[in-house]
Amino acid sequence: AAKRLQGKTVVITGASSGIGRSCALEFARTQPHDLRLILTARREDALRELAAQIRDEVGDGVKVLPVKLDVSKPDEVRGFVGGLPEEWRDIGVLVNNAGLVKGVAKAPEIAEADIAVMFDTNVTGLINMTQAILPVFKARGTEGGAGDIINIGSIAGREPYAGGSIYCASKAAVRAFTDALRRELVATRIRVMEVDPGQVETEFSVVRFYGDKSKADAVYAGCDPLTPEDIAEVVVFVATRRENVVVADTLVYPSHQA
Ligand code: NDP
Repeated sequence: AAKRLQGKTVVITGASSGIGRSCALEFARTQPHDLRLILTARREDALRELAAQIRDEVGDGVKVLPVKLDVSKPDEVRGFVGGLPEEWRDIGVLVNNAGLVKGVAKAPEIAEADIAVMFDTNVTGLINMTQAILPVFKARGTEGGAGDIINIGSIAGREPYAGGSIYCASKAAVRAFTDALRRELVATRIRVMEVDPGQVETEFSVVRFYGDKSKADAVYAGCDPLTPEDIAEVVVFVATRRENVVVADTLVYPSHQA
């Protein structure tokens, strides 16, 4: 049976679009009583719009706090929890979703700056966020659910493709980090889980081709990709199992993708 997240505070990184935005809506719609949602990303306007949409749809049961946060900036991440108003610091769920891909290119041609931004965001950003939030979980002790970390990996981390070496390597790193952390935290009631999407149609699809929408459309021609909502449903599912159930690793394909 689905557990209620009443009284919980959920942090989502990269909540301004795509999967992160859908996760925010899915948490709010399915857990509309006494939930706090901290929505983070670099684009504050989009977060504010989303906060207003959630307020309109579900009312006061869900409190929403938009927070501008660049996960690739270690100082911002370090100051994140302490910078929250006191009543927002008791975080129970962290969805590490912020991530990006820069182009499709063979390894020797990938620009140094693109390599850095992918690793700084997808890997170091995710690790730094996790380190920032773990003390909150640990302080809660082993009573009940001490806290959930849900990392968004990718099929790319399991099945690397030509032209995507750095992105795939970054997602393989997420996978290794997630697995090791789950083992380190065994029996602490801190659940560490990963959800790996296959092809999902989001802004990401266009960014991958340096903004060339026709190229992005060509890749998706004849396909029926997942929607961000499909992934959000899985994220909320894993967060709402009873405390003893760890849905450690989930791979979600669209039916055309092998
Ligand atoms: P989008 O581009 O739609 O969303 C990415 C989100 O990440 C945005 O909200 C963006 O917000 C945020 N983000 C990017 N860089 C940073 C940063 N430095 N600090 C904080 N937030 C940041 O893509 P998706 O929704 O598709 O991607 C979400 C996750 O899903 C990523 O980790 C991606 O790798 C993964 N994924 C996506 C797949 C797909 O096919 N779309 C497949 C498999 C995995 P802002 O720009 O406002 O900061």
